Amino acid sequence: MSAIGALAPLRFPVESTRGRRFPESLPSFRNDFQRDRDRIVHSRAFRRLEAKTQVFPPGISDHFRNRLTHTLEVAQLARTAARVLGLDEDFAEALALAHDIGHPPFAHSGEHALNAVLSRHGERFEHNLHALRIVEVYEHRYALYPGLNLTFEVREGIVKHSRDLPPGTTGPLAEYLPGLKPPIEAQLIDLVDEIAYNTADTDDAHEAGFFRLSELGAAVPLAAELIDEVETHFPAAEERIHLHEVQRRLIDHLMRGLMQGTIEACHSAQVHDVEAVRAHPDRLVRFTPQAAETSRLLKQFLHARVYHTPILVEERDQSAAAIELLFEFLLAHPDQLPPGQPGDSLPRRISDYIASMTDPYFRRVYASLAPQFTSR
Ligand code: MG
Repeated sequence: MSAIGALAPLRFPVESTRGRRFPESLPSFRNDFQRDRDRIVHSRAFRRLEAKTQVFPPGISDHFRNRLTHTLEVAQLARTAARVLGLDEDFAEALALAHDIGHPPFAHSGEHALNAVLSRHGERFEHNLHALRIVEVYEHRYALYPGLNLTFEVREGIVKHSRDLPPGTTGPLAEYLPGLKPPIEAQLIDLVDEIAYNTADTDDAHEAGFFRLSELGAAVPLAAELIDEVETHFPAAEERIHLHEVQRRLIDHLMRGLMQGTIEACHSAQVHDVEAVRAHPDRLVRFTPQAAETSRLLKQFLHARVYHTPILVEERDQSAAAIELLFEFLLAHPDQLPPGQPGDSLPRRISDYIASMTDPYFRRVYASLAPQFTSR
């Protein structure tokens, strides 16, 4: 079955957007999703991704991904899948570029630490929700409205790209069609993100010396086949080149599996338009079973050989402890906080402040306040 244009009937038609919170009628040579994409690229939160950790802390190597280069890789894969399948490439790209802007410093340990301290005050931290607050409130750069004034569908995608909103959801998310799935373009983001980080983390971890190529082959049968293939084709190449030749084939396999699995799911669900995608009880973007298994084994390998190794665990524990200390200090000294949003609780203001920081900015604030930590 050819993938070219296979899902064109499911493309979200940009002209049927539910629009922006503050109506705009600026003439433009760009459509609404192209403008949203550009607003995201021009935001401060997007630029700050450069100094946020993806997996490996900066300073070990100049070659590792940070959250910005990871985001660009996700956007590249999202555009490819959208274009091949006949979906809206600009919509998918805008969502990919925004998909991690709510991440706090220090990657997932930062998120867990903020969630842990907030939960003691009956609240929680979730990076997709924080991303929504960034684009709605904190990115104040236009004269006529707060935030980026993005279309409904891009805001919905920010909230729902990686999780569903259960029916009956209340509060600030109630407007984002709880109980309905997001359009296919938004559903794509979660799995292209998975392809991007599994393959990139394998690359960075190999570069950092965490494992040999043969060990990857022993854990992931498809990788073993690919290693065999590239070693046969390029016997004289060094291991690093073999790894890259395996990587590009792995990405190709996973992307094909993603597109094929999605086409099959949409066909068997008999969905013929966006409304049917929204109303379907399951997400329709999925891997073929073979690609899903490869993705699962890659993730398992990375957990066993990379994410839980002492050097990364220690780094994560230290940053989580630092976040907790700074949070507690600011709770006792709210005068040290920048002005927050009216109506927000103090714990939420502190959490938003810390979440907005890059890793180096966090370290500077921490170092400047740490002398006072014991004197409270
Ligand atoms: Mg990501």
